[in-house]
Amino acid sequence: GIPDAIVQDGDPEVTAEIINQINSENIRRYLQELSENPHLAGTDADYKQAKELQEFWTSAGLDEAFITPYDILLSYPETQNESMMNQIFVYNSSDQEVWKSALYEPILDPSENKSNVVPPFNAYSAPGDVSSTDLVYVNYGRVEDYRWLAQNTSINITGKIVLARYGKIFRGDKAHQAYLHGAKGIIIYSDPADYAVDGETSQVYPRDWWLPESGTQRGTILLGSGDPLTPGYPATEHAYRLNESEAGLPKIPSHPIGYGVAKTLIGYMDGVEVPNSWKGALNVTYRYGGPLKDPYKSVRIRISTKNEKRTTYNVFGVIQGRVEPDRYVLLGNHRDAWVFGAIDPSSGTAVMKEVSRVMGNMVKTGKWRPRRTIIFCSWGAEEYGLIGSTEWIEQYVKNLASRAVAYLNVDIAVQGNYSLRSLGTPLLNSVIYDSTKKIPNPDDQDTVKKTVYDKWLVSFPNTEKTLPRIADMGSGSDYAPFIKRVGLPCLDIRYTYNSNKYKLSSYPLYHSKYETFKVVDEIMDRGFKRHRAVGQAWGEIARSLADSLLIPFRVQDYAQKLEELVKQLDSDFGTLMRKNGIQFDLLYNVSSLFTKETDAFQKFVDSVDKRDPFAIRKINDQLMQLERAFIDPQGLPGRPLARHVLFAESSVNTYAGSSFPGLADGMFEIESSPDEASRWEIVKKHFTVILYTIESAASTLRDVH
Ligand code: GLU
Ligand code: CA
Ligand code: ZN
Ligand code: ZN
Repeated sequence: GIPDAIVQDGDPEVTAEIINQINSENIRRYLQELSENPHLAGTDADYKQAKELQEFWTSAGLDEAFITPYDILLSYPETQNESMMNQIFVYNSSDQEVWKSALYEPILDPSENKSNVVPPFNAYSAPGDVSSTDLVYVNYGRVEDYRWLAQNTSINITGKIVLARYGKIFRGDKAHQAYLHGAKGIIIYSDPADYAVDGETSQVYPRDWWLPESGTQRGTILLGSGDPLTPGYPATEHAYRLNESEAGLPKIPSHPIGYGVAKTLIGYMDGVEVPNSWKGALNVTYRYGGPLKDPYKSVRIRISTKNEKRTTYNVFGVIQGRVEPDRYVLLGNHRDAWVFGAIDPSSGTAVMKEVSRVMGNMVKTGKWRPRRTIIFCSWGAEEYGLIGSTEWIEQYVKNLASRAVAYLNVDIAVQGNYSLRSLGTPLLNSVIYDSTKKIPNPDDQDTVKKTVYDKWLVSFPNTEKTLPRIADMGSGSDYAPFIKRVGLPCLDIRYTYNSNKYKLSSYPLYHSKYETFKVVDEIMDRGFKRHRAVGQAWGEIARSLADSLLIPFRVQDYAQKLEELVKQLDSDFGTLMRKNGIQFDLLYNVSSLFTKETDAFQKFVDSVDKRDPFAIRKINDQLMQLERAFIDPQGLPGRPLARHVLFAESSVNTYAGSSFPGLADGMFEIESSPDEASRWEIVKKHFTVILYTIESAASTLRDVH
């Protein structure tokens, strides 16, 4: 006979134990420790946290804890010599300096009074000292904003400095668009319209969580993920490295500022007033700009930021699987922060520590050992461009492709007190829904909505209002390389603010020095109940994936998603594609074939003898490999490292998800493209690659071919 332990399903008592044991006080204490000092990637403080985490996991009862270092290219601003530090200046017609940006964010609360606070900067900015008589306002600096400028004004950007506001898209795309449009430098500021609800008059940090006028968003402007010098391969000791000049680094100086100084700068601008949709919430007239208003004559950006080779560290904590040790459920969060990181990422790190403590304790006391291996991952250098995770994936892609079940990311655990929100790939939908139904609503004022799921459903429903919305994944955190390089099912969950009411571009203090423990502890999540809820949900999702006899993926959810994506593609581009000779209906045919195969597969799963370990393992292998089947090893057209044919980040906004990304790229403004004919050839070829890929994914659900 088959030993019971081998065909045993997950145990509801383990679920209850994990949910009960996750403790708010612990999370609070971990967060206080983690965010006490700055812990920027590539610094001693970050390495110290890596060592501490390794020790924590060892003593928490995990089977193994180890560190993987990578030698990578990072970027740091000058901090010693003030006359060389990154700064922006305005001069008048007698060449006197009349305005300059702040070198530092002032201390607004004593808890920020720490050494090694890196001043605001955009990582990997090109160094340089550039001046222009013109300053041009480009709104959010999106493709459509430049198009608007071209169609509605006679402003020429070439050789000018542009001013963009933060928000809507990834800042790296703002810097890149500015470069593509010929700008010689870009200034990016946070407008209160996007970061403080009542504009300039908001109650701000440290009294509330809104961005104060000095608050400045740091952040990378690197496009693509991973170490810039070793694309595609791990940055190990003997790896071949590109020269910096070939590494695709940003080409123009870029620098962030807060709205206090931006207001004055905007006041120096001349030209036509912008339309309402371009106006922020400062009490100033927003103009397109051009030559500065008299008597102001020029604007200058001085950037001395340098790229440096440094080491980043990932830390891993492993709980060996009891029955299938060669199957991995991965939980991950990055560890590096721009400054204190009490929200991004240490809220996630604190929660991950607590989940691992609870699971480790159950293993240590002999209460439980999961069926499959659980690996906790603490990534280095995410803020610079998802570097630690990408390098590790590059090193172990073969292993991961054959053994990993799913990657569960929590970057920020709590950025507001309203509701859960989730991004994810379709195979994880059901485990996310089922798990969050088991987690009590952390808002004890709310007596109606009993669970995290209930609150989530009313807060952020899908279009049919039948289920909570799970948005498509773009990039912007460490899940991205797992989807596009490995083809792993992924999710990213967090507690968030009421984004139906507040149309913010992120939580207000994002990447500023003011992301402190104090604001989390006293304002954002008093009592750490939301942190706890995220830990409970994350832990239960991981338990379910690691402990269920059958991996809890519903293949029919994938089919439904695929059908939706095809319909969406049809409504976006179908008419145009058909007009140009593409047999669009073939896509409907393969997606209904895929649906049929998933139905048949599900029937088979329902009927299989659950005491037959080979039948179980066979189904689980097929479940695990399904997402992988959407990987094209050749990559998307022009994007060799984006290999998932259904999901990638948008080419004009790294934060946004794009479906059928190869077609979205090809079709983007195709009719006005100067190389329209060759674009159509790319689209036609890629269309057939998609047909093939979907058929081939469907075939993996069958038995023989
Ligand atoms: N999470 C970081 C940011 O948003 C890095 C994102 C990326 O490089 O894709 O700035
Ligand atoms: Ca690399
Ligand atoms: Zn983060
Ligand atoms: Zn971040």
